[in-house]
Parts: sequence; structure tokens; C-alpha cells
Amino acid sequence: MTTVLDRLRDLISHHWGYDSFRPLQQEAMLATLERRDSLVVMPTGGGKSLCYQAPALLSEHVTVVVSPLISLMKDQVDGLRECGVAAAQLNSSQRSDQQREIERAVLDGKIKLLFASPERLAMGSFRDLLKRANVRTFAIDEAHCISHWGHDFRPEYRQLRDLRKTFPEASVHAYTATATPKVRQDIIEQLSLRDPLELVGDFDRPNLTYRVLPRTKEWEQVLEVVGRHQGEAGIIYCIRRRDVDSLSEKLRRKGVNAVAYHAGLQPEERRAAQEQFATEKCDLVVATVAFGMGIDRSNVRFVLHTGMPKSIEHYQQESGRAGRDGLEAECVMLYSAADAIVWRTMIERGGEGIEPDPAFVDAAMRHVRDLDRYCSAAACRHRSLVEYFGQQYTAANCNACDICLGETESVPDSLIIAQKILSCVYRVGQAFGVGHVTSVLRGEDTEKIRDRGHSRLSTFGLLKTSTKHELREWIYQLIAQDFLRQTEDEYPVLRLGARARDAMKGAAEVKLRQPAARKKDKAARSTTAAAPLEPLVAHDRELFESLRKWRRGEAEHRGVPPYVIFSDKTLRELARKRPTTLHELRGIYGVGDAKLEAFGDALVTQIREHCATAPS
Ligand code: ADP
Repeated sequence: MTTVLDRLRDLISHHWGYDSFRPLQQEAMLATLERRDSLVVMPTGGGKSLCYQAPALLSEHVTVVVSPLISLMKDQVDGLRECGVAAAQLNSSQRSDQQREIERAVLDGKIKLLFASPERLAMGSFRDLLKRANVRTFAIDEAHCISHWGHDFRPEYRQLRDLRKTFPEASVHAYTATATPKVRQDIIEQLSLRDPLELVGDFDRPNLTYRVLPRTKEWEQVLEVVGRHQGEAGIIYCIRRRDVDSLSEKLRRKGVNAVAYHAGLQPEERRAAQEQFATEKCDLVVATVAFGMGIDRSNVRFVLHTGMPKSIEHYQQESGRAGRDGLEAECVMLYSAADAIVWRTMIERGGEGIEPDPAFVDAAMRHVRDLDRYCSAAACRHRSLVEYFGQQYTAANCNACDICLGETESVPDSLIIAQKILSCVYRVGQAFGVGHVTSVLRGEDTEKIRDRGHSRLSTFGLLKTSTKHELREWIYQLIAQDFLRQTEDEYPVLRLGARARDAMKGAAEVKLRQPAARKKDKAARSTTAAAPLEPLVAHDRELFESLRKWRRGEAEHRGVPPYVIFSDKTLRELARKRPTTLHELRGIYGVGDAKLEAFGDALVTQIREHCATAPS
């Protein structure tokens, strides 16, 4: 007897070329089929879309998917059609005859998945259409957008609140990558989910290696990261627009093909940048956070933040754009404890597209501080992220972050150094900023020191062998641990913090970190916990590159992004296994029946030709 699960398994093999479910997909799909409301929380790349796409094929009614961005919908619809699934979207940029045609197809039962924006769902005429089409299932993508507590609140999502009342018969399924318990609860309340099945996936992304490096020589650090990912896709995030412009310009001058993306560019420039990256004409984007939501390129091998983002949720989402294909990828953040202060100014005074909103300053600063603590702490990055999202991390060593790989080390004599710094702050009367305190500790001969007679202080020159940069970093680390605090004036000064007294008495544990003097060799990296990127040998790489070129051409011809044709994971498997018959090809990851029919002959011919000329 075939069960529903067997049918689902056949479907994902037939349409998508997958041979098994990812964790929780099965449970999420069954909840959809049983029409029990659900809230599915999985990290970016976890496979949320399949949870509503596959069951939709077994339902006799159309499934409606609510999604925040037109570009996001378009890519999904294109992707589904390539897999032989009847999907469509309705949006305001379509001509009215196109819209009529889709509406007719929906009423005729010819469409399995219909994508629409939350604004459209609020329209009476659209709701009438859905009623006539007997809609029984709603999938709400990026559901955290409905919550004030989330990091990406969108007022238009609030219009979904009465969905439940308008469609009492239908089940509502919410999907998000934001897992803090507060946001989860809010989603359930806002959408009035009825006894929902809550499925919360594993938040760890073992294929990502996280590094937080002190920002010392930014340009050299950027080049180092870009250099070790030549020929691979990457995203560099900057906090400010002007940094995006200058960094992308500098990279281009260096011969690196990089496009810039931020909200200050003209819409057509933005579209062009996004398009170049999505179609793989360009592999590197330098961007502000404005970039990314609609980007589904799965073979991003690194994400580099040149400054600290403004929340752990943002960091998780932005860094999560790396390695969505499950293959190894790297996330590097260049961090200075001063970044939190940049954010404070921007949150309080506005700028970079942020509206100052006094009501949210506290909440926003809480998010900043949480991330600041993550950066300056000496704890395993995988563990810290997972625990932030309310989950447990059991491994003792992740083998995939700067801390566990031993790339940073604690500063010997942290307590004594801290005492010297605190004492200096006290001696200068708690009336000077980071720069001056640093100069006094280093025993510099500056005008300010001469004017104030600070060279006579007992703390003058106490840390003269340390560099300016080290001292600044330590001061910021002491702020993060409440040994010092910084006033919030226009010219912030250092004061003793709540734990200063304990440190002076030697009764507190002070943790200062610095980059390890002797970096562990690269071999350490290859021991990452899961899904290591099997290196392609030279002749595989040649075939991989030629398949990529073929994919680019095919994508251009069809007007879709390349990953819609095949993911990198599929191309890598093709390059390694070199299937030369349609039967063998069908066994490759990501090759379902529709794609076998569309591309099978072309691929087999190409691989045969390659094998005839290349060594095996
Ligand atoms: P999310 O929306 O959670 O960020 P996606 O739905 O975009 O994640 O899925 C991430 C990637 O994983 C996509 O490339 C998708 O095709 C792939 N994927 C999803 N489910 C499976 C599965 N069961 N087997 C293999 N690959 C899968």
C-alpha cells in the first residue's frame, strides 16, 4: 500500500531529483496535508520552501504562498516551472490581461502554487478569487515580518491578521528563519494559528566556518579573504553606503570584478547589480544589508562583514547566505568594539536609511549589545549562535570557528592589563576618551598630555610595549564586560564600570583576547564538522567550469538565474561522476524527470565529449 509519505518521496524525486527529506520536512509536509496549522522554523538554507511546495502537488486546491518580495516570488516560480510544477504569481507589475489569464488558470484548477504579496492578500477582489478557487492552504513565508519583535518588521504583513477570519476553513502555515521564542509566540498570536504544530529545526550550520577577526588592516584583510576564494561567489557587507562605493571601486582597480549594491543607487543600477550576481556574470558583490533578501544564489562560498551588523538575527541571516547548497563556506566578520558605537549613533540620529525612532532605541540597542557580546566573547561561535536561538549545542568543539580552531588566544596577564587600564581611567579623572587614555598608557608625547601634565601620572607609559590598536581593542573588550563604560555624549569619555572595583581587587575574571601569534596551519580547516567541500581534481574542475558555462548560456536563453537550471552541488557531482547515459544522469542529485528531459541529452553529449578528450 502506498502511503502519503511514499507519494511525497516519489514527488520530490520526480520533480526535484532529491532522494530524501531534510530534517523536519516530512513532519512539516504531513501537517500541511492534514491541514493542521503549523509554524516551521528552520535556518536559511534548511529547505523551508519544499515543505509547502511538495504537499501542494497532492492537494486538489491551489496553495497560496505569501512572500514579501516580487523578485523572491519570481525566482521561486521560475524554479518550480523548471521542475515541471504548475506555479504562478500575481503582482502589480503584470498587465491586466496577464493577471486575468492567471486568475482563470487558478479557477480552472490548473495552478498548484500561487504566489502573492501581503498587500494583494488584503484586496477584497483577490480574496474573492481565492474563495471561488476554494483555497484550503496558506503558506506564509518570512513570517517574522509580522512581528515587532523581529528584526525585519513589515507593516504590510499586519494585513494578514484577519486571514484566519476570512478563511476559517483553511489551514495557515508560517515559515521563518527567526527563532527566538518571543518572535515565535508573536507570529502564532498575530496569525491566530490554531493549536499549531511547532517545528523548530537545528539552527547550527555545520558547513559554515565562522571567524570574527579584529579589524586591524581592513584592506589587506579584505584582499586576503577575497584571494582565498578566487573564482568563487562571495558577498562583502559594509555598514555604510560610502564604504560600499569606495571598497568596490578599490577592488575593481585591483582587477577584481565586483559590483556595488546599496539603497542609495538608482533602481536600475540596483537591478543590474543583482542580475549580474544572480546570473553569475559577476561573482562578488559589495553591499549594505539592503542586498540579499531576493538573492537565492546557493553557491556563495564566503560572506565577509567589514563591520559588525546590528543584531544576531541580521548576522545569522546575512552570513547564512553562504553555503546554502550545503557545501563548505566561510563567514568572516572584521570587528571592532567601536562598531557598537557607530550603531548607537545611527539608531539614535538616523542615517543609512534608518529612521530614528525613539520608541525602538532601547530594543535596537539590545540587539546591538547581544551581537557585540557574541563578537568579543571567547566562546565557540557555533555554540553561541545556536544558544542565542534557544537551542542546545552538544559538541565540545565545533572545529569550524576561529575560537575552536585556536586562531585567537587569551591575553596572558589579562587581569593585570585590565587593572592598569582601569587605574589610568581613574587617574585621568574619568574625563577622557579612548584615544587619550591609550596615549597616556603608551607614554606618548602629545600636546594634550603636556597641557594636562599627564606625563606625571603613575600610569603614564605603563603599557608602552602594546600597540595603539591592541590597547583600543582591550578597552572595548573591557567595556563589553562591564569593567568600563563609555558615556553617550558627543565626545564620549571612559568611566569605571560596574565591575571595575572587583577587577581592581583582583576578585573578577577578566577575559581579553588577541589573534593567536602562531596561526594553526590550514590543515585544521579541513576538519570542519560536516560536508567538507571535496576538492575537485584538475580535470574535474575543467569539466565543472565548462558545465558552469553551459549553465550560464542555458539560463540566459531561458531568462532565469543559473541555479534554477542546476545547483553547484549538481554540477560538482556531474564533474566527479561523469554520467554518460540518461539512466546514470537520473541518479545525480538535483536531476528530476523534467530536467532530465529538458537537459539530459545536452549534458550527456557534453560529458561524453569531455571524457573523450580528458583523462579519467
Ligand atoms: P530556505 O527557504 O529554508 O532558506 P530553501 O528552501 O531555499 O531553504 O532550500 C535550500 C536548498 O536546499 C535549495 O537549494 C533546495 O533545493 C535544497 N533542498 C531542499 N530540500 C531538499 C531535500 N530534501 N534534498 C535535497 N536538497 C534539498
